[in-house]
Amino acid sequence: MTKKTLLTGGTVVSMDPAVGDLARGDVLIEDGVIVEVAAHIDAPDAEVIDASDRIVMPGFVDNHRHSWQTAFRGAGADWTFPEWALAMHRTVKPHYRPEDVYVGTLLGRLEALHSGVTTMLDWYHVAQTHDHEDAAVAALRDAPGRSIFCLGAGWGTADSVAADIRRVRSELPGDGLVTMALGLRGPDDTGMDTVARELKLAAELGLRTSLHIEAAGTVTDLHEHGLLRDTTTFVHANGISDEELRMLAGAGASLSISPDVELKMGFGSPVTGRALAAGVRPTLSVDDVPSVGGDLFSTMRTAFAVQRGLDGGLRSRDLLEFTTVDAARSCGLDSRTGSVTPGKDADLILLRTDDLTVFPVTDPVGTIVSAGHPGLVDTVLVAGQVVKRDGVLVGVDLPALRTRLLASRDRIAAAAGIPVDGTWRPRPEQK
Ligand SMILES: [Zn+2]
Repeated sequence: MTKKTLLTGGTVVSMDPAVGDLARGDVLIEDGVIVEVAAHIDAPDAEVIDASDRIVMPGFVDNHRHSWQTAFRGAGADWTFPEWALAMHRTVKPHYRPEDVYVGTLLGRLEALHSGVTTMLDWYHVAQTHDHEDAAVAALRDAPGRSIFCLGAGWGTADSVAADIRRVRSELPGDGLVTMALGLRGPDDTGMDTVARELKLAAELGLRTSLHIEAAGTVTDLHEHGLLRDTTTFVHANGISDEELRMLAGAGASLSISPDVELKMGFGSPVTGRALAAGVRPTLSVDDVPSVGGDLFSTMRTAFAVQRGLDGGLRSRDLLEFTTVDAARSCGLDSRTGSVTPGKDADLILLRTDDLTVFPVTDPVGTIVSAGHPGLVDTVLVAGQVVKRDGVLVGVDLPALRTRLLASRDRIAAAAGIPVDGTWRPRPEQK
C-alpha cells in the first residue's frame, strides 16, 4: 500500500524554477518521493504534517566534511592549518580505534542532520585499515541520512590500494542511502601516474572523485595530462588562477568552498566570485568541525559576507543554490535531491518562521541566508522518512551516544597526551 504524507500550509522555497516559491503551499509525498507541489492538495488518505509557520525547503547538501574529528569539535577554533594538521593527523589520528571512528562519524552525521543537512559527503582520511573504514560506513548507515562515504585512497602499494577501493565498493553498490565516492590524494602527493590510475579505477567502478587543492598549477597539470573530469569535485582551490577556473568550467568539474576554514586557517580568500565569473557554479562545505560550526547556515553567511566585501557580488538565492541544487549536482545526486521537485526523493526540511530570531519572515530566502540557524530546523525528512520532528531527532539515544563520544575523546586525548580543558595549542615548529 502506498504511504502518503502531506505537508500542509508551509511557505515553499522549492529551489526549482519550474515549481517556483509558494507563499502558502502543500507538498504531497508518496513512498518517499515528492509527487505534487501546489497551493492546495487534497489527499484525504495521507498522514498530515502541519507546516504552517514553517518554510519547506530542500535539505542542505554538504559535499565535503571529515566527520571522524567530531570528538574534538570546537577544540581548534584558534588553529592555523599547520596546527590543525599536527593536531588531527599527527597527534590524535594514530590513537583512533574503529570505535572512535564509528562514534565520531555517527554523532557528526547526526549533528549535520539535526542542522538540516540531509545529504553529506563524509571525506574519510583517518586510519587506513579495513576495520576503521568499515566503522565509518557502519556509522553512516546507522544515521538516517543520505550519505556518501568518500574513501580517501590509502598509502599502500598500488595493488593494495586498488583492492581496498574495490572491497569498499562491493559493500556500497550504490542503490541505498549510503553510497561511495573516491578521495584522490593528488599529483603533488603521489605523482600524476597514481592520479591517472585512481581516476581510471573510479570510472570503472562508477565513482565520483574529490580532490583537495590549494596552489595554482595543479589544475593546469591535470588539464595537460587530460585528467580533468566532470565527475571530480575540487576542494578549496584558493590559489587557483582564473585560467584554471576556466579549465574546470570547460571540463564541467565541481568546486567545493569551505569559507570559514579557508579564511581562519590561512588558505586565502574563498574563490566564490572568481569561480562564478569563470563559469563554475560553486558549492559550499563545512570541512572540519574542530575549527568551525557544522551547519551550512553560517557557511552561507560567511561566503556571502566575504564576497559582498570583495566586490558587492552574490544574492542570497545564489547561496541557497550553492548549498542545495548545485551541491546535489556535484554529488551526482541532482535527479534525486536538492530541490522540492516532483519525482525527486523527499529530502526536505521545515524551518520555523515564528521564532523570534527570524520573525516576521517577509523574504524567506533572504531570511534563511542572513539569519538562519540550526535552531530553526524543526522537522527533517530523508526520502520521505521523518528523522527529526518538533526539533528532536527521532529514534536516537543521544544520552548514550554522548557518553560514548566523551569516552572516546578522553581515551584518545589521554593516549595522545593532550589536554581537554581548552588549553590545547599544537606547536608545529617544535615537531
Ligand atoms: Zn577537507
